[in-house]
Amino acid sequence: MSNNKNETALDAMAGDGGYEEAYLADYLRFKMKRDNKRFWAGDNISEYVTEEMKHKLIDEATEAFELVLDRLLIDRENDPNSHGTARRLAKMYFNEIMSGRYEPSPAATAFPNDSEDRYEGMLVVRSELRSMCSHHHQPVNGVAYIGIIAASKLIGLSKYTRIAQWCARRGTLQEELANDIAREIAKATGATDVGVYIQATHGCCENRGIMAHSSLTQTTVLKGAFKNDQSTKKEFFDNIKLQQDFAPR
Ligand SMILES: [Zn+2]
Repeated sequence: MSNNKNETALDAMAGDGGYEEAYLADYLRFKMKRDNKRFWAGDNISEYVTEEMKHKLIDEATEAFELVLDRLLIDRENDPNSHGTARRLAKMYFNEIMSGRYEPSPAATAFPNDSEDRYEGMLVVRSELRSMCSHHHQPVNGVAYIGIIAASKLIGLSKYTRIAQWCARRGTLQEELANDIAREIAKATGATDVGVYIQATHGCCENRGIMAHSSLTQTTVLKGAFKNDQSTKKEFFDNIKLQQDFAPR
């Protein structure tokens, strides 16, 4: 048996559980169902998808997008702008707008914060967000303000944004996204006092449906002191206000 994870999985397609599928995507769905692994649009499934598998999955998604274009009666053979669109879509989903489903969590080196002069204050990081709603696959653009009360370890400042982006690059609901970011930040920092405030515009309200020019939506998730202590909560929102006054428009 090969030690290569990809080869093993591909070989296994032929015989695993007596199940045989022409498409790798079907085999992986079968495997996740068997393991009771949830694979909703906002879920990370990186433990099932290797880098090598992604190439095959992109080929399979290309074939499927070609069919969608055909069903939409778009002449992808003669229209030069639609030639190659199916592959562009497949690559964009896997490598960009949904990459947070297939990539493992960003490595965040934790630095100890337990000396005598340890930092005990609040930390508020502003992260740009690019996401997509799982209902219409329309862009969700905005910012997340992530606050923690420093615990026994600290992570690099850029890691907050990397973690937030990793959560955002999936099909999400803004409410879920705030929860996901709060959970992953707590995991990476060991902090139990966490606040996440997201402000975003939604393509599904601007480009279709009510066609609102401004669709700004705010969501807040507060844990620990951010929820239970009024002065912590106030400090968090005062900090956000300061950042908003400072941020370039
Ligand atoms: Zn939507």
